[in-house]
Amino acid sequence: MNKRFGGSWPLLFALSLVGVLSVFAGVPAWQAALGWFFLVGLTLVGDHRPEPETNPSEAEDETRDPRLLDEISATIDALETPSLLLDQEANVLFQNRASDRLLGALPMGVHVSARLRSPAVLDMVRETLANGRPNQIEHAERLPSQQVYMVRIAPIELKRSGNLGQLYLLCFRDISELRRLDQMRSDFVANASHELRTPLASLRGFIETLQGPAKSDPKAHERFLSIMLDQSTRMSRLVDDLLSLSRLELKANVAPECKVDLVPLLSHVRDSLVPLAEELGVEINLHLPDVPVEVTGDRDELVQVFENLMENACKYGQEGERVDVYLKAAEARPVEVTVVDHGPGIPSEHVPRLTERFYRVSVADSRSKKGTGLGLAIVKHILTRHRARLIVTSEVGKGSQFTVRF
Ligand code: ADP
Repeated sequence: MNKRFGGSWPLLFALSLVGVLSVFAGVPAWQAALGWFFLVGLTLVGDHRPEPETNPSEAEDETRDPRLLDEISATIDALETPSLLLDQEANVLFQNRASDRLLGALPMGVHVSARLRSPAVLDMVRETLANGRPNQIEHAERLPSQQVYMVRIAPIELKRSGNLGQLYLLCFRDISELRRLDQMRSDFVANASHELRTPLASLRGFIETLQGPAKSDPKAHERFLSIMLDQSTRMSRLVDDLLSLSRLELKANVAPECKVDLVPLLSHVRDSLVPLAEELGVEINLHLPDVPVEVTGDRDELVQVFENLMENACKYGQEGERVDVYLKAAEARPVEVTVVDHGPGIPSEHVPRLTERFYRVSVADSRSKKGTGLGLAIVKHILTRHRARLIVTSEVGKGSQFTVRF
């Protein structure tokens, strides 16, 4: 129905009724008709009065309110970051699914402090509600596990806010992994410096002794120079391992493409370790199939992997006097190389940490065996690049098995 006339129909009907009654009441028809037209005219003119000026956006907002809130909520729901939509009083208007997982489901309309207890976060929310400026702080949760979040609040700048008032988005970005990597990096630098500082300090001490008190003592010269050679060799081993690690990190995402036959490769590694094994009184036995076993890989890196594993088995499993290396390649099964020693084994609490840089079951034992604590970290890096895994099983008193599964 035409809106302009919609409101006048009852009035027009009433006027017509008055006109008809006037004729019956004896008013001449032409006068009644004239009066009728005059009054109808007035009514229509009245209807033509310009409508009161309303802000078009206001009028639209009145009707769009719930839709606007739905649209904002749907957008927030699509975010991976746990987020809450707050009103000017810090009441929760909406929470996305990601925040359900983090905070649990909150009843809508409750104050944000119903679930967030951190005074620092609540202060930040209050401050932004008061001054309208975005803000963020780092917030750590200890339970159920250590997690670190960057909590950020920002006003939502809407062109039309309807009667929703000013809205705010409160987000929780998980930066635990970032902080863990920072921590690892700084631990690594601290460990590497410490490992280098010890032989350096010892070298310096011996040089000073040779220049001073032992200046003219040939026996001390011989003894000290041999220790100095050991220390400088240890330093160069460490630097070599550090360089290896950083080179591997650079190409971590580039998978190798060459085909490598593991049968001759394992024989080569065993042969290169025979002098060390003989020195330690250990025999390395290979159990290889008669057919070639090819994997996709980088030959030099795979040599490094198996050298590390066989050398460790000889050094740390020395008392077992035997190291066995098995290469398994059955149809439709992953290729596996297992290095088995019959030494003292590794207590289970150490096993998951063996591939961490500088992690050693016994630092003194590792040093006395010319270890750097980086061997298995290098192995893990190489295997990750080869899309292969290292599986370690060990039983105290019986020995250890290090399996590479391609
Ligand atoms: P390292 O240079 O000290 O040998 P690795 O990263 O190669 O460093 O090994 C880390 C630690 O793991 C060693 O210090 C040792 O304590 C333990 N480990 C490695 N292989 C064996 C093994 N076959 N038997 C017992 N312990 C081992």
